[in-house]
Amino acid sequence: MASETRKIPAPPTNPEIQPFWDAAAAGRLVIKKCTACGQVHHYPRSICPFCGSDKTEWLPASGRGAIYSYSVMRRVPIPYALAYVTLEEGVTMMTNIVDCDLDAIRIGQAVKVVFKPTEGGPPVPMFTAA
Ligand SMILES: [Zn+2]
Repeated sequence: MASETRKIPAPPTNPEIQPFWDAAAAGRLVIKKCTACGQVHHYPRSICPFCGSDKTEWLPASGRGAIYSYSVMRRVPIPYALAYVTLEEGVTMMTNIVDCDLDAIRIGQAVKVVFKPTEGGPPVPMFTAA
């Protein structure tokens, strides 16, 4: 399938989000939860975007979600689907939909996480039909 031959650049990282990439390297998806207000957020931040507390912790995510919106990039050598996926936990991630027919993608479709290798970096979480 074309999406499997597309080269994925290594994601940028920094100490604040390194545990996210360490978990991805172990095949696990994690999100941040604030223990002060109880809200989850993504992308990962050390200061809660809802209440400003620094009492945030890493929480394992189910890896299941639904497509919130998507756009198929066709004016590139290997077309791919850029998407926002809302996880069961309630956060929305910018990601790619992979290993599927790009014409069959639908808003609201159930998806699950898969980890795709990058060039010289940790694998990145992407999503495929559940
Ligand atoms: Zn908070």
